[in-house]
Amino acid sequence: MKLAKPLYVVWETTLDCNARCIHCYSDAIYGRGPLYWSQEDSLELIEQLADAGVIILAMSGGEFLLRPDWELLAERAVARGLQVTFATNGLLVTETTARRIKQLGVANVSVSLDGATAKVHDAIRRVPHIFDRACQSVRLLSDAGVRVTVNYTPMRTNLAQAEDLIELAYKLGAKKINLTEYVYTTRGGVGLMPLPSELGALITLWTKAATTWKGRIEVDWHDCRVALILPGVEADPYNGCGAGYTHCRITVNHDVTPCVVLPLPVGNLREQRFTEIWRTAPELHRIRDRTNIRSGNCASCKHLERCGGCRAASYARYGDAYRGDPTCWISPDGAEVDGPLIANQMVPS
Ligand code: SF4
Ligand code: SF4
Repeated sequence: MKLAKPLYVVWETTLDCNARCIHCYSDAIYGRGPLYWSQEDSLELIEQLADAGVIILAMSGGEFLLRPDWELLAERAVARGLQVTFATNGLLVTETTARRIKQLGVANVSVSLDGATAKVHDAIRRVPHIFDRACQSVRLLSDAGVRVTVNYTPMRTNLAQAEDLIELAYKLGAKKINLTEYVYTTRGGVGLMPLPSELGALITLWTKAATTWKGRIEVDWHDCRVALILPGVEADPYNGCGAGYTHCRITVNHDVTPCVVLPLPVGNLREQRFTEIWRTAPELHRIRDRTNIRSGNCASCKHLERCGGCRAASYARYGDAYRGDPTCWISPDGAEVDGPLIANQMVPS
């Protein structure tokens, strides 16, 4: 597979955060500094990403809105022609902030909602009343004319609320709800993982909901197997795992990794420019070629070329991104059983 430029880059601008989510992929926490991108380096990075032809830049964290210079960074990225999006837990979104985000030309704000009730969401995000604040922020942003996506990560504790979340996101004014697969390279660990069969049932339900809710709210998902269950041309836009192919992540340590939940450094921006890493990093070339997957259920799977399996799930389970996908609900039986349970190794504690 070849792609001259990434469609989108997720940039971890800071590890400071005002929530303490159990499943955070950055292990972010309040007062985490000095792990953040300096303003000077940030502005230079925006130039590099724009020059590289990146389409979408997702300003991530930690909580991006905790950066004193978030407006400057968003403004500069928009001015350079990038489609700017960022994720927020909603705690800092006020009416004034929402209007400013709209004024800056931010293309989309993703608000995380991992439960359709305060009890479930607050327990995951570990801040009292964060559910109310997140709901309020979806409303404020939508009312200000900002396009809002609600982000939902299914875990053992919130699987049952999937359908309720679609309805809630719609009522709050969100334009889209997106389901992102939970991978335990995050600090949540293996205990939060749904079973492959539960995940399969959920993705099936979710793809059907996309039809049911059409015209009211866009119901979208991230799962490498989805092209295998969608009918006809609906499957065409999906090409399985896009790690290091359609996207990558940039960490606070200036490392480039193939995916947000795959903590495998392929180069460092203190040593090389972004374009050079994207074009030449051996690990990126390796991960783009699915024939490099040589063991486990994916290696012998007839869907390998179309799906590829989640490379982050393989890394989480085996400490090796080129083995089977233990989360597969289509061909789970061949998954290997032994191996280390790897935690997020890139963030110093
Ligand atoms: S075994 Fe791997 S390649 Fe086959 S469907 Fe499952 S995840 Fe995809
Ligand atoms: S490794 Fe691939 S399938 Fe897994 S979350 Fe990343 S892009 Fe998706």
